[in-house]
Amino acid sequence: MDLGLKGKWAVVCAASKGLGYACARALAGEGVGIVLVARTESTLRASAERIHAETGQRVIPVAADITTEQGRAEALAAAPQVDILVNNAGGPPTGDFLDFSREDWLAALNNNMLSHLEMIRGVIRPMVERRFGRIVNITSSAVKSPVEILCLTNGPRAGLTGVAGGLARQYARYNVTINGLLPGKFDTERLRSNVRARAEVRGVSFEQETQHQIELIAAKRYGRTEEFGQACAFLCSAGAGYITAQNILVDGGAFPGLL
Ligand code: NAP
Repeated sequence: MDLGLKGKWAVVCAASKGLGYACARALAGEGVGIVLVARTESTLRASAERIHAETGQRVIPVAADITTEQGRAEALAAAPQVDILVNNAGGPPTGDFLDFSREDWLAALNNNMLSHLEMIRGVIRPMVERRFGRIVNITSSAVKSPVEILCLTNGPRAGLTGVAGGLARQYARYNVTINGLLPGKFDTERLRSNVRARAEVRGVSFEQETQHQIELIAAKRYGRTEEFGQACAFLCSAGAGYITAQNILVDGGAFPGLL
């Protein structure tokens, strides 16, 4: 299937590893030039080189913190144009609601809601002018099914989802789509650290908690990051122009509801 993306440019945030990397790799595989953003220069460069070697696409690494104004400006300045924006950032700390301060909440809002909105603000006008734009917000299955130890995720990501839903309707007429892609459990560093935290709370070993988590997934396995990347590339495709304001779970059937 040709996704109709050859020659387009994407800014993919928080993308030297894990889900962001997988989105960048899948888009590059479809002929998209990539601005690859993460903070740590060494891993970022290695990831950019790997994507270039595997796909032949131009990949511009930008070592920047996407949760800062300067980092966002550097990411956007590096792109010849932005046809696709994949919003992503590191997840907030796990913990008990009673232990978090107002500062913790403000940081979480900045990381997983406000930074994403600032990036959308930075790209949307030219997308409207070109009558093409695809924005994917990587959020979390916690948007549909809040997780006890992740209250700092539950709130900001739900807030982002609400704002994005309104924006998506405002810009749909210009062939600019905005969707949420909600990961369930993908085998990444972030997931492993969450599983460690859950194991501690439940007083079991990491391996026992891993087994328990996998049992809760209908597919009986963690997701492969490539599967997430491919879902992202499809949502960004030319043919997905009529899919907007949606929040799509990629969770191996873990969510028990129909809708
Ligand atoms: P990961 O494997 O730990 O990768 C995180 C990536 O983001 C790395 O490339 C990291 O590189 C970069 N990054 C982190 N903070 C950044 C910042 N402020 N600015 C720029 N780059 C930054 O994490 P992941 O599992 O892919 O998770 C990605 C997002 O999805 C997180 O928000 C996570 O909470 C959410 N999520 C993941 C899962 C899952 O199953 N994995 C499930 C639900 C939600 P540097 O550290 O070098 O910057």
